[in-house]
Amino acid sequence: MVDQFIITIDGTSSTGKSTIAKRIAKKIGYIYIDSGAMYRALTYYCIQKNIISKTFINKNILKNHLPSIKIDFIKNPISNNLEVNLNGEFIEGKIRTLEVSDHVSELAKLDDVRKHMVRIQHSLGNKKGVVMDGRDIGTVVFPNAEYKFFLQASSKLRAKRRYDELVLKNKEISFNEVFENIISRDKLDTNRSNSPLRKASDAILIDTENLNLDQVESKIMDYINFSNSNS
Ligand code: C5P
Repeated sequence: MVDQFIITIDGTSSTGKSTIAKRIAKKIGYIYIDSGAMYRALTYYCIQKNIISKTFINKNILKNHLPSIKIDFIKNPISNNLEVNLNGEFIEGKIRTLEVSDHVSELAKLDDVRKHMVRIQHSLGNKKGVVMDGRDIGTVVFPNAEYKFFLQASSKLRAKRRYDELVLKNKEISFNEVFENIISRDKLDTNRSNSPLRKASDAILIDTENLNLDQVESKIMDYINFSNSNS
């Protein structure tokens, strides 16, 4: 049994972070928190309320709404999984669209938004026993986490993985749309001034280019088991 730690898994879009984080959490009996789903949930909310459009974010209205936007992870009685919940609604099925992907990184740049999210992330992680994935989890949200990993892969491969996933879900989308969205989000996430996407200096770098999910999982588990048995 692994002691109660915080494990962070950061990296660019579609490196397999969420799948791996979910598998690791299940294996060691931890809670999995998908911080990207939180930013997506907020984006979904802003699209519904016309706070964001292709050309505009109404920052004042967003600031007024933020304190009353409740984002949490709750067990969905239908799927039996811990899922992102926005103001009482399970919205996992609505946040993976290209429309949400196209807006999310613009919202994620904003200081008020990040402050709100980090507050929620701290409350979710305060009991430890959490695997959280995202962009700034090992650098900003939990800089003292016991285990930190950073996943990377080429943009072409990441777009291919994401495209295949969306096609499996019967989404009508072209490879180019997915590829361009990934490139644009990488750029925004890496270049923003607040909490840019970076590898924490003490994070373990894993290049997933030539690894399947089992291999990535076993690399991470080896590391956790090894450090745990030596502590
Ligand atoms: O992980 P996912 O690709 O679903 O995240 C969607 C977007 O949310 C990212 O492209 C990024 O702009 C934002 N994000 C963030 N910080 C995190 C997690 C996600 O800025 N910790």
